[in-house]
Parts: sequence; structure tokens; C-alpha cells
Amino acid sequence: MIYTITLNPAIDHILNIKGKLTRGKTNRIQKSSCLDVGGKGTHVSVGLKLLGHENLCSAILGEKDSEIFEELLNQYQVETSFLKVEGQTMRHNYVFVDESNKGSLMAAEYGFPIKREVMKNFINSHLKEIKADDIVIISGNPSKDTPMEVFEYLLGVLVERKVRLVADVSGEFLKTMLRYPLLFAKPNSHELGETLACRINSLEECYQVYLEHQPLLKNIEYLAVSMGAEGSIFLKNESAYIFYPPKVKTINDTGSGDAYVAGVVAAIVNGKSLSGIGRLATAVGASKALESLSTGFNVDKVDELLEQVRYRKLG
Ligand code: ATP
Ligand code: MG
Ligand code: MG
Repeated sequence: MIYTITLNPAIDHILNIKGKLTRGKTNRIQKSSCLDVGGKGTHVSVGLKLLGHENLCSAILGEKDSEIFEELLNQYQVETSFLKVEGQTMRHNYVFVDESNKGSLMAAEYGFPIKREVMKNFINSHLKEIKADDIVIISGNPSKDTPMEVFEYLLGVLVERKVRLVADVSGEFLKTMLRYPLLFAKPNSHELGETLACRINSLEECYQVYLEHQPLLKNIEYLAVSMGAEGSIFLKNESAYIFYPPKVKTINDTGSGDAYVAGVVAAIVNGKSLSGIGRLATAVGASKALESLSTGFNVDKVDELLEQVRYRKLG
């Protein structure tokens, strides 16, 4: 079984702006604006489902506004298991999408911190079926005020159950997860740079950084570092590839990383080679960038883009 865990899910407000988003003027919100599911693990669940992989989407929700969130997610028909925390409100995010072709702009609320008792309830009632060799994808950080001890409590339980852990978290939470055995991790270049206290300006530099910090990254079986439209570097043991996505008209690249994660996990489960995994993930990430919503992508488009992904081996 595949599980996703979203510790700080949100309701995304997709605000479509006519023309270019500009400071100092009134940017008008178009009628096509809408609400969407926010929170990275939920996007990974939808991506996996679209790629034909059943999975369980688990999350800790604020009780207030949770019905809006559930209704939004329902349309994607993924199986869900949510703990609703009384007295807390769902996080709201605002994604500005304009016609500049420069990608989206996001403003996000922090969300509420998770207490140990809440994490205990979540594990006992919503993750109780998780067993050895299940793939568990932790996507998105818990809110910044969640104590690391609470996050590590979750990791400890998952490691004890011998699951195959996937990490798409950042900052201190990524630093912590790097100490645990991981099937796969996908920081983007900023997230990896922040965690390793260095600057990464190109995919080639990603590889250099990887070589210099190998002892810190030794617990990861598959590692991808992504750089948006420039592509990603993909590593396993001694093998390293750069994947270049096809050039697409970018509408909203928020969620491309989550779509990429879904592509990697789907391809690993299907027993694809390293180049096959990177190609699928790259096509899925590019396909997501074509959509205005943060959730989901067009599967037919993925097939078309797959043929246009270029890659080269490094080292
Ligand atoms: P998020 O966390 O918002 O989901 P991310 O920053 O983690 O995104 P990105 O690096 O933006 O992840 O995207 C992941 C991959 O998706 C890239 O490596 C690339 O292959 C593909 N991709 C992203 N944006 C584009 C784009 N504009 N055009 C084509 N491919 C893209
Ligand atoms: Mg990005
Ligand atoms: Mg990301």
C-alpha cells in the first residue's frame, strides 16, 4: 500500500489575474478563480491516483472549514483518512496566476502546530494499518511551530514499522529526515541549498553539492533535486542523470514538484529503470505546469511529453 501524509494541508485560493500581476495597481480577480486542494501530500495522492496507483491520503485537518477541503478532494476520488482537530481552522493559501508566463506567486498561512497528543491520536487511529514495506510519503512540512520532537515521534513509529519512507519536506524537517533511511527524497535546489547551507545555481552545481555532502545524504536510496523548468538531477548510488523537461507554456508551476514525486513513486512501484523513473517524473512535472490548478494534471499530456524529455548521464 502507498500512504501520503500531509501534516499541514490547506485550502488553496487560485486567483486568476488578467494581464500581468503589478504592484501599485488594482489587480482584478477573474471569474475563473476558484478553490483547490492545498498541501503537498494531497497533491501526491491525486497524482498517484491519476497514474493508476491506489493510495491512502492521510492528513491532520483543522475542524473549521474541513468540509470545504473534503469536498474539494472528493472530486479526485482518492481514499482518505483524516484526523480533525477541534478548535482549529484549516489553513488558507492564496495562489496568484497571471498571464506573464513567469509562473505563479503564492502567499501561505502558517497553519496550526501539532501537539504530541494529536500526533499520537493520528498515528493510532489513521496510520494503524501501516506495515513493513508500505511506501509512506511525507510531503510538506508540519507548521513551523510543531516541535521537532513530535515530528520525530511520527518518524520513529514509521521506521519501527519498517516502511519505505519518502521525504518531500524542507528546512529543519529535511535535516531531521536525512538521519533516517529514505527510499526517496525530492528537495528543490533552494530547499537542498538551505539545508546544506550552500548556494545552488545550476543542475551541474547540484551534482557538485551532492558529491561534497555525500556523507549527509547517504541514507537516501533515490535522490532528486529539482530546479523548475530547468529540470532535475536524479541520483542512485553511483549513477547520476540530469533530466530536461520539454518547454511548455507555464500556467501554474506550484505543485509540479508534488506531481514529480507521484511520478517517481509510480515508476519505482512499476519497477522502471533510473532513466525511466526520471523521464516519467519529468513529464508529469511539466504536465502539471500546464494546468492552472495546483492539483492534478492531464494524463494524455504526460504520454505526449514523455517522448520529449531529454536526459544525460553524469560522472
Ligand atoms: P512544488 O513544491 O511547488 O510542487 P518544487 O519547487 O518542489 O514544486 P519544481 O522544481 O518546481 O518542484 O518542479 C519539479 C519538476 O517538474 C522539475 O524538475 C521539472 O522537471 C518539472 N517542471 C517544473 N516546472 C516546470 C515548467 N515550468 N516547465 C516544464 N517542467 C517543469
Ligand atoms: Mg519550484
Ligand atoms: Mg516541492
